[in-house]
Amino acid sequence: MKMNEYQLKLIQEQFKTLKDKSDFYSRKFENIDLEKIQTEEDFTKLPFTWKGDLRDAYPLGLQAVPEEEVVRIHSSSGTTGTPVIIPYTRKDVEDWAVMFERCYRTAGLTDLDRVHVTPGYGLWTAGIGFQAGAERLGAMVVPMGPGNTNKQLQMMMDMKSTVLCATSSYALLLAEEIAKRGIGDKIALKKGVIGSERWGEKMRKRIASELGVQLYDIYGLTEIYGPGIGISCDEDCGMHYWDDYLYFEIVDPKTGEILPEGEIGELVITTLKKQGAPLIRYRTHDLTRFLPGECKCGCKYPRIDTILGRTDDMVKVKGVNIFPSQIDELLTKIEGASSEYQVMIDHMEGKDLLTLFVEQEDGYNSAALEENLKEAFKNAIGIAAIIKVVGMGDLPRSEKKTARIFDNRY
Ligand code: ZN
Repeated sequence: MKMNEYQLKLIQEQFKTLKDKSDFYSRKFENIDLEKIQTEEDFTKLPFTWKGDLRDAYPLGLQAVPEEEVVRIHSSSGTTGTPVIIPYTRKDVEDWAVMFERCYRTAGLTDLDRVHVTPGYGLWTAGIGFQAGAERLGAMVVPMGPGNTNKQLQMMMDMKSTVLCATSSYALLLAEEIAKRGIGDKIALKKGVIGSERWGEKMRKRIASELGVQLYDIYGLTEIYGPGIGISCDEDCGMHYWDDYLYFEIVDPKTGEILPEGEIGELVITTLKKQGAPLIRYRTHDLTRFLPGECKCGCKYPRIDTILGRTDDMVKVKGVNIFPSQIDELLTKIEGASSEYQVMIDHMEGKDLLTLFVEQEDGYNSAALEENLKEAFKNAIGIAAIIKVVGMGDLPRSEKKTARIFDNRY
């Protein structure tokens, strides 16, 4: 997306003092004169910032303000070893809530809504962000956090929660539980704000229909405030993001080259106003693309597509790049296949083998379903797969991000 005047101004303003304030960037940009960054093109020559750089700065190496200005820290999940610590100033916390409130307004929430927050509270940013934005809007927060399904459903009924905030897998779990218990008529939900995971169209439809709600995708990552930096609208075509706080680029995940507008690549984010830990050209590993033109909803903020996967989910099998959203898409077209699946990739006797496990909806013939899936997979992806149909609920659900592709080759 072309850098606008306002963004360039904010970046240049930030660059005047960045190296003085931040040890991290004074080292990273040691041999670069930031005052010479005069255009978008100059900017795109700056080196990227990687998650590994942030980890190396543990614990507080990213801090770019004096101690007395830091009011809070958050930490991103360290799946491998050292976590990343992000310090926030009062202004950062406020800015985040402003963006989050904007998300809720984009989803049509008002101060009469009751917002049921199931993402966790604590070091990870999710819960508190959902709460701060809703409070700023003037809605009533029901701060549940994750787990304890009985309690969740009881409070949802008693408090007449109108909005569910959850990850897609937890929303699915709750939707299934509501259906199982036959308590749908006691649930007052109208909207779901679903974050932090890429999810397929079929799963989305199931959650929406079982809960009887309209769903909105919310986007964000701990390194850049947290969830709330973008959200889908009623038109349901991609997500608006707040380009007065953030500058987005889409690059080729392998070469780092800026891609032509509309092509799928890795999202790279630069913060324009963040004080506690500004980030310049941060590689998110999220795959998406810019959506051209203005949205029919009338919102002027630009859009990216729904997150299509992670650069590290992209696997190459028999020379073909495969990412999870392709499989989601495929499953939506097959009658009898649920949205739940897993892919196993193995290497045996010199050959790559791909096995697709799919849950079967009740009342379908599994042999016929296997045949249909086999053909559809070959047609859509271009390689053969071994198909294994399993029963509903046989594949794992979790409150955290659900991994669906397992590469056992290395
Ligand atoms: Zn829109």
